[in-house]
Amino acid sequence: MRTIGDFTEAIGNTPLIRMSRLSELTGCEILGKAEFLNPGGSVKDRAALWMIRDHEQSGALKPGGTVVEGTAGNTGIGIAHVCNARDYNCIIFMPDNQSREKVDMLRTLGAEVREVPTVPYRDPMNYQKQAGRFAESLTGAVWANQFDNIANRQAHFDSTGPEIWQQTEGQIDAFTCATGTGGTLAGVSRYLKEQREDVKIVLADPMGSALYSWVKTGSAEMSRGPSITEGIGNSRITDNLADTVVDDAVQIADQEMVTMVYQELHTEGWFFGSSTGINLCAAVKVAKQLGPGHTIVTILCDSGSKYQSRLFNDDFLAAKGLTPWKPQRPLKTGSRFSTKALAASR
Ligand code: PMP
Repeated sequence: MRTIGDFTEAIGNTPLIRMSRLSELTGCEILGKAEFLNPGGSVKDRAALWMIRDHEQSGALKPGGTVVEGTAGNTGIGIAHVCNARDYNCIIFMPDNQSREKVDMLRTLGAEVREVPTVPYRDPMNYQKQAGRFAESLTGAVWANQFDNIANRQAHFDSTGPEIWQQTEGQIDAFTCATGTGGTLAGVSRYLKEQREDVKIVLADPMGSALYSWVKTGSAEMSRGPSITEGIGNSRITDNLADTVVDDAVQIADQEMVTMVYQELHTEGWFFGSSTGINLCAAVKVAKQLGPGHTIVTILCDSGSKYQSRLFNDDFLAAKGLTPWKPQRPLKTGSRFSTKALAASR
């Protein structure tokens, strides 16, 4: 029998999916690493497990201890799941401008959520800094510190990178993804470059982030924003991202991302969140730059289900000046679902 023993063992080993519409459009193989299939629902399950394991191995986290983190989303969800599986307490600090769904979700998972005023990173009351101070003040607690704890990128060096290399049998020309903490891009990039230095690493950036300019010019200047994407883009270079070889960057506007996500949903059946939309747009851009015949891998970070009230809400999109792409599917007359057939059946 080939079975999995517990929640943490179910993290990773996700399928690599051929994005058929985009592959046909570009003449390249565009492949997506299905991180939305992790048991906590996102790419951040890997980082959550590696950071918690790192604190266990250092002796800082003992049975019955507490994991504290500043996070607005998937990292908190991943940490809350792993804490339940390993019997730790979980305390999450998050800015008070986040959607109700996220707060409710974390509380449902058993985390204690502390909503704090939304202030910039330089402010000492920023949610990440509050999480760090709180963890220090509490006996038996550790701060996961996803942005600057390099156990985060190690997760992707140890697992995501090798999985991609094996699944493509080394036939990979480029890897691209957006970054929040930088863990995914940095870990995968480091692993792939160790296998073959000429695998091209491309950072995908939403608007309102400084990472595109950092890659292009060496200086982290914020681009014009904002963006409705969540969990990606940054104003600073984290310890996870620092010293990572990044060959190029592409910038993706929200409208391109929205169109991509809706087209994948309505024509291919995939239900993705906004960062996945950015990643797929970036993969298409890289494919067009490289020309037909190349293989480009990206990350399918999480599903669309967390974004119902924003990305999948026509009123929200309209208020942001964005237009959802909708399929033209006229109902066939004579079909049992057509208006005529329905009227006749009454
Ligand atoms: N997509 C989503 C939905 C995320 O929550 C995150 C993490 N913030 C990312 C992408 C980026 O991953 P990383 O932190 O590894 O850069």
